[in-house]
Parts: sequence; C-alpha cells; structure tokens
Amino acid sequence: MTTDPRCPDCGVTMEEMTVQTSGGHHLQFLSDETKEGLLGKLGVKQRYDGQTYVCPECGLARLYADIDE
Ligand SMILES: [Zn+2]
Repeated sequence: MTTDPRCPDCGVTMEEMTVQTSGGHHLQFLSDETKEGLLGKLGVKQRYDGQTYVCPECGLARLYADIDE
C-alpha cells in the first residue's frame, strides 16, 4: 500500500491500525491458491497478513490483504 486510503464518507486519511483477536493472534487471509515451489507441492496454502485502516472520524474500517506483487 503506497498511498493512505481515504474514508469514502468523510474524505479524511484513514489511520493504519492492528487488528487481532482477544487471544492476541493476528488476522490472516488464507487463499485457495497454494504457495509456489516446494511448499505448494506439499499443499501449503498462500497466506497474507491483514492490513487495517480505520477512519478517525466515523470509525469505518477497511481490511486489506497484504499481497506481494
Ligand atoms: Zn469516515
């Protein structure tokens, strides 16, 4: 993410925040795609960390998968 997302309702820059479960686990996206290479051959699925932006005005949250290009 190179640019800070803006809230579609308020038009202000959204703040990056960390979302985790009450047990302290980070949220992850689990893709149907398998990883490339040896891990993929073993059936390991591709995982992405979540990146969350929250609007400081209205509290709207946007959750992005941190996909490497
Ligand atoms: Zn807002």
